[in-house]
Amino acid sequence: MANIFISPSRYVQGAGEMDKIGVYTEKYGKKALCLISAGGIKRQGKQIENSFSGSSAEVVFEEFHGECSKNEINRLNDIVKEKSCDVVIGVGGGKIFDTAKAVAYYCGTPVIICPTIASTDAPCSALSVIYSDEGVFEEYLFLPANPNLVMMDTDIIAKSPVRLTVSGMGDAMATYFEARACAASGATTCAGGKVGVAALGIARLCYDTLITEGYKAKAALEAGACTKAVEKIIEANTLLSGIGFESGGLAGAHAIHNGLTVLPECHHMQHGEKVNFGTLTQLVLENIPEEELADILGWMTSVGLPVTFAELGITDTSREHLMPVAEAACADNDTLHNLPFEETAESVYNAMLAADAYGREALEQ
Ligand SMILES: [Zn+2]
Repeated sequence: MANIFISPSRYVQGAGEMDKIGVYTEKYGKKALCLISAGGIKRQGKQIENSFSGSSAEVVFEEFHGECSKNEINRLNDIVKEKSCDVVIGVGGGKIFDTAKAVAYYCGTPVIICPTIASTDAPCSALSVIYSDEGVFEEYLFLPANPNLVMMDTDIIAKSPVRLTVSGMGDAMATYFEARACAASGATTCAGGKVGVAALGIARLCYDTLITEGYKAKAALEAGACTKAVEKIIEANTLLSGIGFESGGLAGAHAIHNGLTVLPECHHMQHGEKVNFGTLTQLVLENIPEEELADILGWMTSVGLPVTFAELGITDTSREHLMPVAEAACADNDTLHNLPFEETAESVYNAMLAADAYGREALEQ
């Protein structure tokens, strides 16, 4: 099988770029459906509308209903057709992008992704994660193309809640370990091929950037400052992690994240926060050296990512309660099987218990 590398056609990152979204859009269509949350309309609605006044394209806003579910995608497909839109824009967070990408795919239009947060690696990918209307993971929808344009306005992202950017670091921290596992096992990645040196190199660069810039970026963001470290972390969370996971592959961290979605008490946690615990669990499954584990745990706690059940909101740690998480992580259609060795629900359950114990110890230090 061939190595396959895919990426968005264009990635733009800079301060004040949202002012140009109307001008960017006219390259792709005449009438845009802009999928955005109610809060997003309040915060960016005027700015987006104004940006279209200098553009030959027009925009209609549609409020997102909250889940990237089949029902929501079908509802929006009907609106795109009814309003004769020929391009879809998703403004906001991960579930909005995934929905916008799926709608554009079914309607045969280009798609523009404008994250207002840097909390996941969803923006750049040719992938939508489909959930039930209740927020339980259902399936991955692999799309034939990546977004036409991903546009990050760093002014907007630097003002977003710090917890979200930190969560993005959690999602990004999984990238290298999952790509490394896929390279070792010869697994087929999300891009539909094997891991090449470009994808593995980008995944490694993502890891190095997080380690060197993560804490500096978090501290700067808490002070309301947009610094070079913040800009590097925005790029690591979005572009490096996005390309890295897609052409480098997913493995244990995301499968364990998907397992955690069966617990209602975890629904309030961010994607990257759950992925972070998944990474820790994968590293236990891989039995990495103690020193390496201590370094990674030290980084995770320094930026404030959850490393214990308690931090994820899980108070019932009985076998009966946690075994369904491990079983879901081992589902046939999930990526745990991309690890270079055979795992079972029993071994995942045990690794989760150990990850929690290491996490508790790291927090005490
Ligand atoms: Zn992710």
